[in-house]
Amino acid sequence: MHQKLLLLACSAIICQHAFCWGFYAHKEINHHAVFLLPPAMMVFYKPNIDFITEHAVDPDKRRYMVTAEGPRHYIDLNRYGSYPFDNLPRAWYNAVEKYGEDSLMAHGIVPWWINIMLQRLTKAFSEKNHSAILKLSAEIGHYIADAHVPLHAHSNYNGQQTGQQGIHGFWESRIPELLAKTAFDYFIGKAQYLSNPRQFMWQRVLESSAAADTVLYVEKALTEQFSPDLKYAFEERNGIIIRQYSSVFTIAYDQGLQGMVERRMRQSIFAVASFWYTAWVNAGQPQLQPLANISLSETDKSTFETLDRIWKTSDPKGRTCGN
Ligand SMILES: [Zn+2]
Repeated sequence: MHQKLLLLACSAIICQHAFCWGFYAHKEINHHAVFLLPPAMMVFYKPNIDFITEHAVDPDKRRYMVTAEGPRHYIDLNRYGSYPFDNLPRAWYNAVEKYGEDSLMAHGIVPWWINIMLQRLTKAFSEKNHSAILKLSAEIGHYIADAHVPLHAHSNYNGQQTGQQGIHGFWESRIPELLAKTAFDYFIGKAQYLSNPRQFMWQRVLESSAAADTVLYVEKALTEQFSPDLKYAFEERNGIIIRQYSSVFTIAYDQGLQGMVERRMRQSIFAVASFWYTAWVNAGQPQLQPLANISLSETDKSTFETLDRIWKTSDPKGRTCGN
């Protein structure tokens, strides 16, 4: 009986909605990125900061609706040999030629997808398309943030190969939710123009991949020092009491990682703001003030309602962070 209860509680940890960076962190990243922008962009982004924040999580919601969405959030770099994976062509067409599109899709495409999103955002700025700028800004922020998560660059993405199921949400949801408000520093400076955004993003993904082993190893080593009673606890999350990694274990893990989660969150914020800024500069720095207070169309609103409804009522298609 006792064992059965334990099993139920453990599966609750594994099966609870787990999202890339967690909804909380994604929203924080987009929100804080706005404050790194120059005044000529701030006039548009500041009045729309609630949209940019709320819609940071749309790509994860879309995973419940569209099968092709999943691979846009990760890349299992370790499938391509060893660091720095020189065998893997950085240009999409060369990579397709070498591995085939199906194989690339199976292992995730996040760095290439960010490049597509950057082109779309640049076009939206050129056309001064208010709603496209908003939607694409919010969404590219999501993918850029995902690319900064070590377990988004590794096939053992939820510790499923090493008996560490749940570690994905532990790293990217539990730690920020417990510590970001009180212990993380978001003073980051200013967005920078990226002369080679593609290379920049590959560098960040490689860093993620290099950190994945540490993410897994530190948790494993710490688990040996904690009894299950101390590792897990019934604590409050989003107003509900659930069994999850205890605060003590979470803080010890964060310390063992030597600030990695905060560092990756800060780097995500800088990268998101810099991609927005780069798209705007490449589009010829259009005047954004006239677009600042336009409302979204009814079609846009109903699309968001559908996305929300399907996310709440359906199962995810393909891989999510927690399965
Ligand atoms: Zn994601």
